[in-house]
Amino acid sequence: MVPETRTPTKAKAAHLMLQPTITRHPYGITAVDTEYIRPGLAAAHIVEHGGRAAFVDVGTTHSVPYLLAALDQLGIARGAVDYVLLTHVHLDHAGGAGRLMQELPGARAVLHPRGAPHLIEPAKLIAGSRAVYGDALFERLYGDIVPIAADRVVVTKDADRVELAGRPFELIHTPGHALHHQCVVDVTHAAIFTGDTFGLSYRELDTEKGAFIMPTTTPTQFDPEQLLASIDRIASYQPECAYLMHYSRVTGIARLASDLKAQVRELVQIARRNADLPDVKGAIMKEMRQLWLTLLRQHGCKLPQVRIDALLEADIDLNAQGLVAWIERQKRAA
Ligand SMILES: [Zn+2]
Repeated sequence: MVPETRTPTKAKAAHLMLQPTITRHPYGITAVDTEYIRPGLAAAHIVEHGGRAAFVDVGTTHSVPYLLAALDQLGIARGAVDYVLLTHVHLDHAGGAGRLMQELPGARAVLHPRGAPHLIEPAKLIAGSRAVYGDALFERLYGDIVPIAADRVVVTKDADRVELAGRPFELIHTPGHALHHQCVVDVTHAAIFTGDTFGLSYRELDTEKGAFIMPTTTPTQFDPEQLLASIDRIASYQPECAYLMHYSRVTGIARLASDLKAQVRELVQIARRNADLPDVKGAIMKEMRQLWLTLLRQHGCKLPQVRIDALLEADIDLNAQGLVAWIERQKRAA
């Protein structure tokens, strides 16, 4: 265990002032805003059942005080948390897992076999993320990454189950956004926690037609064929709702799956037709922005363009980076 650096008094005082933004959903599910970049961008989920609890994704190290405050607000003792189910090891999802688990004496982290080594020994993960974000931004966004002790990690096989006080959750391996991605199926309630595999959907972009959804093609393991297959696999469970990290609960899954797949195909076309330009990334960003503006207007979104740009600019940048990485992989493979 890495020693706690803050004094207990200071930690407690800071903790008491924190107001977590939580949203209660059916069947003991609660979304907690992880306060990553801006409100409404990323949500960790807590599931309560039979006096026990589990997290699904946790946010960054900076999110941990909010998650602990949320447990307090829900009246869940730290010792009652049995699992930290992690969809994948991207730091906005799992960067805070090691730090959080220092506070949860009985919890085990549940990870895809390709993801687990990166949280047990995070040096490579940190280096990779610093390459994407740069050092200054990395530190502001993620802070220290605390490793998880190997004996507290459970590694999954596809379709493995864990039980929270008898409530079964199925872990399905869903590559495409990342090779080591898994989704968490709440078997008895027709819900799936989809991490980043089922895209992102900001509540600010909801209209009378429902949610607007976009795929996330973040570096460095985006694979369109795998992603399309994983979206189909999620939809094949006919879930009533999906819980996304970005941002929480969406319904109307059949339509959203079809929208996502159409966009994945469109993004591949955009990447391919710009692949040989001098500024590939810039060209992709321009077309992606236009695609989303067009789709948002068709969806009935009335927000001014400048507001939409502010909501989507970070995703456009990251998605373009991921598409560039994918093109480079294709070129190397050819
Ligand atoms: Zn991700």
